Amino acid sequence: MNNTKILVIGACGQIGTELLVALRKKNGQENVIAADIRPQESVAADVAPYFTLDVMDTDALESLIVDLKITQIYHLAAVLSAKGENNPTLAWDLNMNSLLSVLELSVKHKIEKVFWPSSIAVFGPDSQKNNCPQQGVMEPSTVYGISKAAGEQWCKYYFEKYGLDVRSLRYPGLISYTGAPGGGTTDYAVDIFHHAVKDEPYTCFLSEKTALPMMFMPDAIDATLQLMDAPQESIKVRTAYNLNALSFTPEELEEEIKNLIPQFSVSYAPDFRQAIADSWPASIDDQAARTDWGWKPGYDLKTMVKEMLDNLRVLQAEPEAQ
Ligand code: NAD
Repeated sequence: MNNTKILVIGACGQIGTELLVALRKKNGQENVIAADIRPQESVAADVAPYFTLDVMDTDALESLIVDLKITQIYHLAAVLSAKGENNPTLAWDLNMNSLLSVLELSVKHKIEKVFWPSSIAVFGPDSQKNNCPQQGVMEPSTVYGISKAAGEQWCKYYFEKYGLDVRSLRYPGLISYTGAPGGGTTDYAVDIFHHAVKDEPYTCFLSEKTALPMMFMPDAIDATLQLMDAPQESIKVRTAYNLNALSFTPEELEEEIKNLIPQFSVSYAPDFRQAIADSWPASIDDQAARTDWGWKPGYDLKTMVKEMLDNLRVLQAEPEAQ
């Protein structure tokens, strides 16, 4: 009998919204429990089973784990890069202490597997700019990056010291048409599409030449499921795996959108997020993920842009159709 019961913390965010659907398709709706700080009444009915949870409330988290007989945890709640710079101590507190609670409770209650995402933000201005290696200089300059770099070491520590099977990916900037982005430095690559489908001009908060690693959400979800399904012995990296898919500049994205919407116009007005973007690599070497558990992205810039525009147009037309 399959006793898998998965708890997804931060389930209402950009990743959680889509990860929930994929996990439920595989494990059954009732076996994947959504939890987020958002009040029940603000969450769509089809997200059920749903529990309002402040992950910082360790007792409430422990009760959920015990009462619902949870066997796996996906911990997604965090303060992201741009928001983190506006409130560094809050970002550190949530990102670090919630991870430690999840790790501690997972050992205590013999959780089989834990997923916790890291980020390309673990890299800093002295890291290799192109094809940034799995292991190399990692001196992040944002509080978000510092929390992810420290979190990776905690994951490795819990694996080595307690045998906890915790796995992690360094996601690049994620692009999706369902959930809204949560305050990261790569959010422009989602916002730009919303303006394009509405035939509105877009002002980009990064400069036109800023190349960053990016990924379309279906690839990120596939990578997450692939990582979590891989046999334990094939997971050789116990900090977090580099993951690469796309690398493009705002100007290149603008051009690709203009191939389909020629009248679209973009202007550039870099703000404080430019400094964060400048501190990150432009592309990532993900050979370890490819070798250890067979990672391979499915989308390139052209196919991602077409699918984003097609789906946003459908979503845009939906309220009128009702
Ligand atoms: P998001 O901001 O869209 O979602 C985070 C969710 O966590 C939100 O629904 C929020 O309500 C919830 N939350 C916040 N505080 C909480 C608390 N105290 N208790 C319970 N829930 C709380 O973020 P996302 O983009 O979905 O990212 C998820 C994870 O992936 C984060 O750890 C993030 O660092 C990582 N990541 C994301 C990206 C990206 O481009 N989206 C890239 C790299 C890494």
